[in-house]
Amino acid sequence: MRISEIFYSLQGEGFLVGIPSVFVRLAGCPLRCKWCDTKYTWDNKAGRQYSIDEISKTVQQAQGKFIVITGGEPMIDPDLPQLVRKLKDLDKHITIETAGIGFIPDLDCDLMSISPKLSNSTPADPRRAAIHENSRLDLAVLHELLDNYKYQLKFVLDSKDDLPEIEETIKKIGNVDLEKVMLMPQAATRDELLAKSPMVAELCKHTGFTFSQRLQVLLWNNKRGR
Ligand code: SF4
Repeated sequence: MRISEIFYSLQGEGFLVGIPSVFVRLAGCPLRCKWCDTKYTWDNKAGRQYSIDEISKTVQQAQGKFIVITGGEPMIDPDLPQLVRKLKDLDKHITIETAGIGFIPDLDCDLMSISPKLSNSTPADPRRAAIHENSRLDLAVLHELLDNYKYQLKFVLDSKDDLPEIEETIKKIGNVDLEKVMLMPQAATRDELLAKSPMVAELCKHTGFTFSQRLQVLLWNNKRGR
């Protein structure tokens, strides 16, 4: 598999925030989001080739049970089922982080962490914008993911004006458990995170959705591999 990086840190977002976890970051993502903080993963030739055994040996060098398979976009990698099986054989807790643009059935993962992309992530470049707009939201795929996996649904807000689009998206997906919806601020830096967090907190109080921290930004200012 093409792996951008493997590192040990704390889960920064979602319901498992703060849990020490090994991150396996796969290379390749077609979406090219404007505010992506892992642009170095976009190219599916980024990083280097690992065998499944090599990934498994590397993750066992770190402490603990929690593995996060992230990207890039893991749900477009044809070798993902084999990797998940191998890590499950090691009795690991597996989270898969995805934008929800691809469905693979019968993955033995413990949490599907889905972050559908809103129009606020559309890149400025017209060619990239067209690709992004065509693929960022696949309602049928999202519906399948929610029906088949234990999940959390995280939306990134750049401003309070994003809320109607989030509510509309939830309505269109159709089978969303509202207790699994989380809102988090769009923030590439600690300063940006601190500036936008009160706005998102107020929206959470208003809607009943859960606020998601972004510890990797708060603690390490989004430094790669932390
Ligand atoms: S889906 Fe994630 S990895 Fe892909 S471009 Fe968007 S933010 Fe970056």
